[in-house]
Amino acid sequence: MTAVQPTGAVTCRAVTKVFDHTSPEVLAVDGIDLDVAAGEFIVILGPSGCGKSTLLSMIAGLESITSGTIEADGEPVTEPGPDRCMIFQQSSLYPWLSVADNVSFGLKLRGVPKSERREIAEDLLHTMGLSGFADHHPDGLSGGMRQRAAIARALAMRPRVLLMDEPFAALDVQTRTKLQNYVTRLRDESGASVLFVTHSVDEAVALADRIVVFTARPGRIKAIVNVEIDRPRDSHSPEYHALHDHLVDLLADEVDRAFAEQERIRA
Ligand code: ADP
Ligand code: MG
Repeated sequence: MTAVQPTGAVTCRAVTKVFDHTSPEVLAVDGIDLDVAAGEFIVILGPSGCGKSTLLSMIAGLESITSGTIEADGEPVTEPGPDRCMIFQQSSLYPWLSVADNVSFGLKLRGVPKSERREIAEDLLHTMGLSGFADHHPDGLSGGMRQRAAIARALAMRPRVLLMDEPFAALDVQTRTKLQNYVTRLRDESGASVLFVTHSVDEAVALADRIVVFTARPGRIKAIVNVEIDRPRDSHSPEYHALHDHLVDLLADEVDRAFAEQERIRA
């Protein structure tokens, strides 16, 4: 009997990336083994330059894999697909389209009829707290609102996997906290798996089911930490603080190593 693969699952086996068009070549990611369950919220935490974005891009199918394999829902990843959506720090909405048309752009390409597109867009904008902004243009929105619209656009495609690369890094703390709440709720409602990259320990503890700590470059998995704190998470609780301190300790050496390397490159 064959086992049924849960949808949304991502499997990385010995995933390695070498950028060989540079001199010297760069070993960015080295031997990543990671299983992401359907509906699981994984946060990848690591110092800057350790290969977080590179790993996410490979899972998205935007970057080739040098060696090893990545599977999404049991299928090898070789190119981008609508089952995997990437959200970046700076979202790029089309400035000439309304917010609703931005959100439903991918549905239009899929041939979804106009009235249905509008309904889906309005529904998602409501979920993201942007109800009154369907007919506004992106340049009339704040950074946080644009990022919410970008998330709504990704969700319109009903991805099984959301790949979020420091999506809130450019936002103020209050907006960031609010968006973190949105994203955890969306995960609960959509059942999608989330791979979320950050270098913020606080963000990792607030969001993750499991935190994958990366070493400084070349990015390897240093530790995988289960977060067994009830939601909503109280950032003042002793268990929150204990985990936060543990992660800061895990990261400290890696941040020092990353810093030393940057100094060496500059010298
Ligand atoms: P992170 O997202 O953790 O900050 P990246 O994945 O962006 O790190 O980068 C990992 C390493 O790979 C860095 O040393 C970076 O300079 C290098 N790198 C990333 N993209 C490229 C590229 N297209 N060509 C050459 N080197 C790259
Ligand atoms: Mg990055």
